[in-house]
Amino acid sequence: MKDVYKINWFDEFECIGGNCPSTCCKNWIITVDDECLSAIDKVSGWKRFALKLLVGKREDGLRYIRQCNRTCPFFTRDGLCRHQLQDNMDLMPKICRVFPRRVMMLDTGEYKRVEVTLDLSCVEVARVFLNHLEKSYFIKTDDEFETLWVRKNTDPSFLEYLISFRDKISEEIWREEDLFSIMKRHFLYAKLCQKNLVSNKNIYDLDCLDNLDIDEKADSDFIIPIKVINDIIFNLFSWDEVKKKNPVFYRLLKTYEKVYGNDSEKAFQKKLEAYILSLKRNDKLLNKYRAYYQYCINLDMMDCFDSYYLLGAVLFPILYVDLLMIFDMVSENDGFNSKLLKQKENTFEPMILASVERAFRHSDKRKKEILNKIRANLLTDIIVSDML
Ligand code: SF4
Repeated sequence: MKDVYKINWFDEFECIGGNCPSTCCKNWIITVDDECLSAIDKVSGWKRFALKLLVGKREDGLRYIRQCNRTCPFFTRDGLCRHQLQDNMDLMPKICRVFPRRVMMLDTGEYKRVEVTLDLSCVEVARVFLNHLEKSYFIKTDDEFETLWVRKNTDPSFLEYLISFRDKISEEIWREEDLFSIMKRHFLYAKLCQKNLVSNKNIYDLDCLDNLDIDEKADSDFIIPIKVINDIIFNLFSWDEVKKKNPVFYRLLKTYEKVYGNDSEKAFQKKLEAYILSLKRNDKLLNKYRAYYQYCINLDMMDCFDSYYLLGAVLFPILYVDLLMIFDMVSENDGFNSKLLKQKENTFEPMILASVERAFRHSDKRKKEILNKIRANLLTDIIVSDML
């Protein structure tokens, strides 16, 4: 049996093709799947030879489209895909056919649940998302989608639990309560559950979430210490690579370095606190972070269906919210060279959001590096090394 669900704002997205200010046909590694390779093999004559020449192979075996000036060779002057224009969809890698749809199948063997959301690293998706700063939900649909990710686990009760946990979090996010306190409670609960999972004990009942005591007088609204967040921002990337692949994020990094790079941890924390205080008075901005936290939870919660890494399913969304706040703050700074972005005012906020998403979310390797940095400071009492 199979059920398909899509996020409520899904149908509002439409690719803007040639008008896209940050097309996914540039600066991205486009992976080539087996189906696409077989389709290329079936092409006759010199064209097959030419298509094969454009497929590279990395040392780890991953096949990808060789780019020309960091641009897909099938990208036309009009900003469209030649395969699509010529109706050769089978020659398009699956990732190109599906993106920016995120199609995740949760497979228990007897039952398959397919969840379809949209990827905020697409600037048009980010724009649509920013028009929906309210509670989101999944709706059942008869639409068919190509599946990109499959998580298999023959434990249907864990799937039920994840759905209930996510529903509960989604309710709480929109309560009239401080978002930072809500996130702290979720983190504490997930940490307790993870400890039990590691030692093969039962997960805590969801009801106990309401009774968890968090330290309301804690020094910081941030769960992940600023020192660690700084380490992630400064040391996770090759800045030269970012400059080529994600120019908007590169400008954010440079501004961050220029404006806050010489601050002591305390001084930076103070500036951040002032920003957080201002956003606590700004309902629209606060709703943006609530909606973004829910978006991240929607995605990351199901990611742990096969790994049981429940803590990561809560920890990463919290980190992403922290990072978005920090880079929003950076983008508001006078030192941020945003002339180009500001020319089109309605794309400024989506471009910032899409660039931060591109920087942090799209690599398991990067997630592992982030986790290593966090673990040394925050998770010393829990062994999670094999769970990501
Ligand atoms: S980034 Fe989004 S809007 Fe832009 S070309 Fe790709 S799918 Fe279309």
